Amino acid sequence: MDRARNVDRLSDPFDLAIIGGGATGLGAAVEAAARGYRTVLLEARDFAQGTSSRSTKLVHGGVRYLAQGNVGLVREALLERGRLRRNAPHLVGDLEFVVPAYAWWSGPCYGVGLKLYDVLAGRHRLGTSQLLSRAQVLERIPTLEPDQLKGGVRYFDGQFDDARLAVTLALTADDLGAVLVNHAPVVALLKSGEKLQGVRVLDEESGREHAVNARVVVNATGVFADAVRRMDDPEAPALVAPSQGVHLVLPDVFLPGNHALMIPKTDDGRVLFVVPWHRRALVGTTDTPVPEASVEPRPLEEEVAFLLEHAARYLSRDPRREDVLSVYTGLRPLVRNGGTERTASLSRDHSVFESPSGLVTIVGGKWTTYRRMGQDVVDHAARVAGLPERPSTTAELRLHGAPPHEDAQLSTMGTPSQMLAAHGTEADQVRQLAEEDPELAVPIHPRLPYLMAEVAWAVRREMARTLEDVLSRRTRALVLDARAALECAPAVARVIARELGREETWIQEQLTSFERRARESLLS
Ligand SMILES: Cc1cc2nc3c(=O)[nH]c(=O)nc-3n(C[C@H](O)[C@H](O)[C@H](O)COP(=O)(O)OP(=O)(O)OC[C@H]3O[C@@H](n4cnc5c(N)ncnc54)[C@H](O)[C@@H]3O)c2cc1C
Repeated sequence: MDRARNVDRLSDPFDLAIIGGGATGLGAAVEAAARGYRTVLLEARDFAQGTSSRSTKLVHGGVRYLAQGNVGLVREALLERGRLRRNAPHLVGDLEFVVPAYAWWSGPCYGVGLKLYDVLAGRHRLGTSQLLSRAQVLERIPTLEPDQLKGGVRYFDGQFDDARLAVTLALTADDLGAVLVNHAPVVALLKSGEKLQGVRVLDEESGREHAVNARVVVNATGVFADAVRRMDDPEAPALVAPSQGVHLVLPDVFLPGNHALMIPKTDDGRVLFVVPWHRRALVGTTDTPVPEASVEPRPLEEEVAFLLEHAARYLSRDPRREDVLSVYTGLRPLVRNGGTERTASLSRDHSVFESPSGLVTIVGGKWTTYRRMGQDVVDHAARVAGLPERPSTTAELRLHGAPPHEDAQLSTMGTPSQMLAAHGTEADQVRQLAEEDPELAVPIHPRLPYLMAEVAWAVRREMARTLEDVLSRRTRALVLDARAALECAPAVARVIARELGREETWIQEQLTSFERRARESLLS
């Protein structure tokens, strides 16, 4: 992806202009470009910088929805889980979950529900759920609290790296001819009479604004959807009710091995996961309604306390604040009830709205169903724009870098060579960069599983423009170990500056802003 070339192409005429480069917008861009529509996507900050890099990293049907009796939703998500695993085997892996039972009746009870989960997955099933004895549970999760443990159940779901999938979708859309620009907020909508005819976008690097003409505008800005709707109509009613979810990242001594722990119901009725990811343990999440969307949501003290307390209850060793390597917070774009506009109600998890001017807004959903959301919103947008009807092809579309076979699975172990596997068929080219330049052959930090070559690659090929783009999303350094990310920031900034041709003042500005961001990811 070449940002400068894409900025030059902003004056082309487009069929669709998509605002927002998270899971939803990127899924829509792949969908539209795969159908041959002329597509532009504009992202205010970086791809997946919002909610889409802050998930629990599960590609799942949603066992929770099953408990609520929402069978249709679970079936749709399981179908998408299977498709994603087939189309991006370099980014999605299988994960075995253990649900511990501390009461004699709970094991068989969860067992029945999870059998239904297997049945709904049909031929997309990743493995068979089954009841486990106490010994089998402890063999899988030796750090589980053994007191009163009766047994458990195992089931399977998928796991992925959310920000890496986002950049892979951006690369896939680029391969298909879409024009994508990051660090480019849409600042106004352009109208001809009452109808939208495009957007005005600010290129933050040059400071220049561009008018972008498109036959239809898609608003895929997640928790910011209402702000964009009010560019169209200042009186537009709110559609989104943001709800915050926090994750703590712990060292893998708290969860060694490759099994995840799932607590279906904490005492206040929440689902809690402890998930192995890149040789760390992710603990999450919370669900706290917040009054408004913010770019960098902060965890509340009570959310951190809730997660530490519950992790301590289910793990034999109690995690303390000092053990936390990083904390991250995301905002769910939940759809408010009672919207008055015409809703093409496509599933109970996501909704598409059309305003009188023709702005098409999509909200809700989850990462797992991003492809289906893209299909639905592009169907709708194509009708609004009067584009020729073309069938969706993305169910079978292999994503950028997908190896020809399905056997390249994402590993949760996270050694450097396994991390390179996430580059799929391009891993050898990244390795070659390291072989050609000794400066790029070194790890970015002894505690982080990335090479400097990946930094150069991120700038040259993946449109990384800032230190935070590289340390937070092209690599996941900030999530895996915020202190280590801070320590390696100066060296990484120099490699980025060399690639982009930037001066010392740019390096210092980047370091100051990254340091502020990284300190927010630390608890102590
Ligand atoms: C705590 C938590 C855990 C989750 N875990 C999972 C999980 O394990 N599995 C799963 O399937 N789903 C999960 N989800 C759900 C999933 O992460 C979200 O549904 C999804 O990421 C939402 O993507 P989005 O593109 O709609 O929003 P976002 O990712 O927020 O993207 C919107 C983008 O729009 C951009 N934008 C805003 N305004 C403008 C503008 N004016 N111009 C240009 N761009 C703009 C923003 O910068 C942002 O990048 C989780 C969600 C949360 C909060």
